Amino acid sequence: MTSKISLDSVPLVDNHCHIGMYEQRYGNAFRTVRQLQEQYAQGGIEASLPMGDWREYSKALHGNKADRLREMDGRHGLRRLTDRTVQMFESTIFSRALEIGCTELHGEWADAELLAQAVIGSRREGLAPFYKRSLALGGFRIALVDTPYLDRALWPEEGFKWIARLDPFFYPFGPGAIAGRGTAIKAGHHARFTAELKKVLGEQGLKAIPGDLADYVAVAERALDSYLERGAVAFKVVSAYVRSLEFLPVSEREAARVFGDLSRGKRGESKLLEDYMAYRLLRWAAEREVPVQVHTGMGVPEPGMDFQQSNPLKLESVLMDESLNTLQLVLLHGAYPFCSEAGALTWLYGNVHLDFSWIVYIHHHFLIDRLSEWLEMLPAHKLLFGTDTGLPEMHLGASRLGRRALEAALSRGVEDGLWNPVQAFRLGERVCYRNACDLYGLSAG
Ligand SMILES: [Zn+2]
Repeated sequence: MTSKISLDSVPLVDNHCHIGMYEQRYGNAFRTVRQLQEQYAQGGIEASLPMGDWREYSKALHGNKADRLREMDGRHGLRRLTDRTVQMFESTIFSRALEIGCTELHGEWADAELLAQAVIGSRREGLAPFYKRSLALGGFRIALVDTPYLDRALWPEEGFKWIARLDPFFYPFGPGAIAGRGTAIKAGHHARFTAELKKVLGEQGLKAIPGDLADYVAVAERALDSYLERGAVAFKVVSAYVRSLEFLPVSEREAARVFGDLSRGKRGESKLLEDYMAYRLLRWAAEREVPVQVHTGMGVPEPGMDFQQSNPLKLESVLMDESLNTLQLVLLHGAYPFCSEAGALTWLYGNVHLDFSWIVYIHHHFLIDRLSEWLEMLPAHKLLFGTDTGLPEMHLGASRLGRRALEAALSRGVEDGLWNPVQAFRLGERVCYRNACDLYGLSAG
């Protein structure tokens, strides 16, 4: 009997991705392969421009100001800088994943011009039909989508499950001053939180944030109710991009005092209100048995994230809270570079699960080693397959590489006598789709 495990026949549930996000007025706007490549080059550009010019460039880029960008290109040689940075990424697994997806979907990779034409051509009838073809090729049955809104005409309920964010309710009075490198990333996240909160207030017939904390909490809880009515299967916390994952318990009296201060423009203690709201809403989710995904570890490839604050060990105060012991918590991205810390938390707490999205197209051998680490130590129901992409080409490439890494880790275990082939295959099935189906109450049949 061969020790090589094949998961080709096994369907996938994507625990975390961003399908359809480009259609939003805000969000990641990756319509093409080139746009995704350029996003990964942003860190190189940021490190080559004076900060004032970088901010100007970033604003023009996100605002789609072609004239401004042309003028800045003349001044700084931005085109050449971007090309060079994109080129330097060619040796990475990120690029390999794109190559796999592009070759399979377009039959092209080496010629950038031909590839660009094929990418545009594939989207002529809209992104959705092409995207669905890519997902079918990858063997995806269901995708859990982190996005402000899913257009159900394009992305039907059956295959696309919505993940709604809790963060907009943590910052009712905005972020205050943001300074230092990565300002644009933090400001961008806060802009999305503010926009969502404004939308929620509008839906509830309110023109402003209510005057006291209890009324404000009621607004947030009504919004979460409406998210569930609209089909959300889980919530997400993405605040590691803007603050520490250390949420500490805060009394209602203390939170009400800070709420009052903030509403009168007195800043300084906003973290106390953020922490209070996080606990309130996590408890709300726990009571309704709705899982919560948490961004842990690395962030987008340009400065902005304080890695020390995104260490999943910062979540220990939440995990130690008695009222949250039944909250199903999913650590996203294997918490890279804190993969073993994430594994340890997942091992220790029965209510913690571990997703390895994003890692699938950033690492290969490292991922195989981490999968070995996690598969050997964790019970079979803990690990979740995810991609973390919103681009069809990357989705397919990431799924191919992710499957390959999982097969390699399982095959290695069989070779070393850790599992027999049947056990290893069953474990692969759990990671690919069964665990997600159990956790979110889905059927991938
Ligand atoms: Zn993501």
